[in-house]
Amino acid sequence: MSTPTASNRPCITRFAPSPNGSLHLGHAYSAIVAHDLAKASGGRFLVRIEDIDGARSRPELADEFRRDLEWLGLEWEEVPAQSTRLASYEAAFARLKAAGLVYPCRCTRADVQAAGAKMGPMGPIYPGTCKNVVIPADTQVQWRLDLEAADRLTGQLKWYDDFDGVQFCDPYQLGDVVLWRRDEPASYHLAATLDDAADGVTLVTRGRDLFEATHIHRVLQALLDLPTPAYHHHALVLDERGEKLAKRRGSPALAARREAGDDGRVLAEQLRMQKFELGT
Ligand code: GLU
Repeated sequence: MSTPTASNRPCITRFAPSPNGSLHLGHAYSAIVAHDLAKASGGRFLVRIEDIDGARSRPELADEFRRDLEWLGLEWEEVPAQSTRLASYEAAFARLKAAGLVYPCRCTRADVQAAGAKMGPMGPIYPGTCKNVVIPADTQVQWRLDLEAADRLTGQLKWYDDFDGVQFCDPYQLGDVVLWRRDEPASYHLAATLDDAADGVTLVTRGRDLFEATHIHRVLQALLDLPTPAYHHHALVLDERGEKLAKRRGSPALAARREAGDDGRVLAEQLRMQKFELGT
């Protein structure tokens, strides 16, 4: 199990699954870490369904997730799903736009690749092709965060990770990320940052694979006058090849184990002790 958070005040944590595939062991571990940290501190554990991605979201999975969490023996408070919060995303985006902190971009993934973008920790780093370019008014665009403009306003920022201590914010590792998408509303970065603030989350617990995203979230907090929680980026559950578990690589779904009659509370204990079978 993870090192406890540095703070011993009651903390508010959350588990924020996206209903675009069944939960697997990695999600179970993440939920248990968040749950146990909150409960050990006398705080609250929240669950938020991150269904902002309308095209990929499968509403029926939210119920499956609830059954999985119950099966693991967790207790939680559910906060509103992202699909009900669009007005808050729109308001924040309008504010960033009015302050000149975003710019329109018409590049497709293929354009970004063709422009020779360097690979960052969460995908290609946008090379700024559309920055300072006048784009005809009727073009379909996405909107990107202008990190240089943001930097001029915020100066050097910091955030705190339970494992790695104080972090000097380095959002350029991800570059000018998309905040408002062409086909859908807010991006993950904008939505999750706003939601964590709205939900009063004081300790964001999530996998190490999202560590670098926090640099962007910290910038958004500064630009939108949001509080900065502490972070707990826990280790990932890896498969036999040392790769992150993912449904598409055949990681067994919690729902399948549950339906096969496995004991979820036993599995939760095994995950706490980091002694478990990956299953097939
Ligand atoms: N919805 C995200 C996911 O399922 C979680 C993001 C987060 O914890 O900040 O990967």
